Amino acid sequence: MDPYSIFADIIAGRAPASRVYEDDDVLAFMDIRPLTPGHLLVVPKIPARDLGELDPEIGGKLFKVGQRLAAALRASEVACDGVNFFLADGVTAGQEVFHVHLHVIPRTPGDGFGL
Ligand code: 5GP
Repeated sequence: MDPYSIFADIIAGRAPASRVYEDDDVLAFMDIRPLTPGHLLVVPKIPARDLGELDPEIGGKLFKVGQRLAAALRASEVACDGVNFFLADGVTAGQEVFHVHLHVIPRTPGDGFGL
């Protein structure tokens, strides 16, 4: 087992996930407990427990991929008209999985989710 997290197992294909995008550096998949329909996570393929361990270039790529996915969500059946990006860095910030991940959370009017 990878010492870091379940996300390392998802990246390696050892654990299941609904993958929506993948390239050499980044993987995006559906959050198992979506805050709203279409909630995605974008993760670096090289493990980084937190922002301190994340290569800034890969960090830029997480944002770039998140930006494209946000546009795709707006055009998809999710038909959101807003998107929240969220990244928890550290326990105090609410981080639960210690493999950096960018939340891409589609928003629709009255979805009841307050961030
Ligand atoms: P955090 O609180 O660390 O910012 O968010 C962790 C996120 O990972 C949560 O939204 C949680 O639902 C998601 N998550 C935890 N375990 C799994 C898993 O095994 N598969 C998937 N797809 N998402 C997971």
